[in-house]
Amino acid sequence: MHIAMVGSGYVGLVSGACLADFGHNVTCIDSDVRKIDSLKAGKMPIYEPGLAELVGNNVRHKRLSFTTDLIGTVGKADAVFIAVGTPSRRGDGHADLSYVYQAARDIAAGLDGFTVVVTKSTVPVGTGDEVERIIREARPDAEFAVVSNPEFLREGAAIDDFKRPDRIVLGVENERAKEVMTEVYRPLYLNRAPFVFTSRRTSELTKYAANAFLATKITFINEIADLCERVGADVQDVARGIGLDNRIGSKFLHAGPGYGGSCFPKDTQALIKTAQDYDSPIRIVEMVAAVNDQRKRAMARKVFAALGGSVRGKTIAVLGLTFKPNTDDMRDSPAISIITALQDGGAKVNVFDPEGMDQARLVLEDLTYFYDPYSCCDAADALVIITEWDEFRALDLERVKSLLTAPIMIDLRNIYDPAEMERKQFRYSDVGRGARA
Ligand code: NAD
Repeated sequence: MHIAMVGSGYVGLVSGACLADFGHNVTCIDSDVRKIDSLKAGKMPIYEPGLAELVGNNVRHKRLSFTTDLIGTVGKADAVFIAVGTPSRRGDGHADLSYVYQAARDIAAGLDGFTVVVTKSTVPVGTGDEVERIIREARPDAEFAVVSNPEFLREGAAIDDFKRPDRIVLGVENERAKEVMTEVYRPLYLNRAPFVFTSRRTSELTKYAANAFLATKITFINEIADLCERVGADVQDVARGIGLDNRIGSKFLHAGPGYGGSCFPKDTQALIKTAQDYDSPIRIVEMVAAVNDQRKRAMARKVFAALGGSVRGKTIAVLGLTFKPNTDDMRDSPAISIITALQDGGAKVNVFDPEGMDQARLVLEDLTYFYDPYSCCDAADALVIITEWDEFRALDLERVKSLLTAPIMIDLRNIYDPAEMERKQFRYSDVGRGARA
């Protein structure tokens, strides 16, 4: 089977490499010449565990290749996936569909023989109809069907998520297209991964409903964490106590600095806008987005409090910048708001992140970068942990204490044990565990 993947970012590159690994012949396309040049040279444009090996292996077996030539590639493909970005549109928060529509116009120009056009990008309800209209208008003669197949992979665990998905959602309204999609995912079918075949609009909405639900779960436990701090309860025990109930489930119940990343913030906003446009507002998601927005700067106030009310003239060491571990993705990372609030408060900020510093340079200013956690702490007045990279979980605390001007740690991911931190004589703050000041 020949597959074309339009867009070779976090989703397109991982999906393309995994589909090649299933045995398909995949061409990953991108309009960014530097990205394609770098892939051709065997260099990954993003950090994702296991990706370099997977790509290298499939390139060697000639199942995976890269090009900027979309129109020339689409003609040979049985299925063309659209995996371009759908960021928030500046000004109103709607999903910006300009990349999807441009891809649709380019695909139309290259179509040759029956082809399934698959929208993998996260797109609002009705986008598949518009993609179909664009292609039909440009190529009234073309034989094609437009399918919705949203992606649910998580950065940092993307390959495993793609190969062992909880489910595959397919919005297909055409029998021939259903056959093609079944063939594309045959290896997963054999592994008994659940397939949800549905209408295109239902499939489009399912992706937003999933992300909004997860964002709600995170925000719920974050507000419970705030209450725990007031009443002297422990949010981790509450999370365990409720999460063991199968109806609730234990995932996404980790209190922290608020959700971020390239999906939840923009997807909740886009769902809110769609719902308002259809005069069916989803107030719970509106509230989740507002609460989460305020939370990030509130985390900076935790740092102010730990330093006696002000950070003016202080140096703060920050460990972790990306929105989660095992990625270099800085899009909408909580670290951006927290660090900006610290700088607004008059602090100098030292930072270290294992993979995110190149991306951080593009979105944050006036930081001092270090290349290991200890030099980042040297002569700083407090340590703040924003992202729970494994290498921050077992720091040499005596060494950290000897480097800081005062033994102050603000652990926004609850990766240290409060009792141990007390024994080690740290002034330790965390999120939602007990009623310490
Ligand atoms: P990304 O920005 O990493 O990648 C998008 C790529 O598309 C870029 O390399 C860009 O150059 C390329 N592109 C844009 N227009 C193009 C065109 N006309 N022709 C060829 N290439 C073009 O984005 P991403 O994180 O991979 O997200 C892609 C989509 O998948 C989004 O809709 C996102 O919401 C969704 N999604 C993302 C994740 C995730 O974890 N990143 C998970 C699930 C779904």
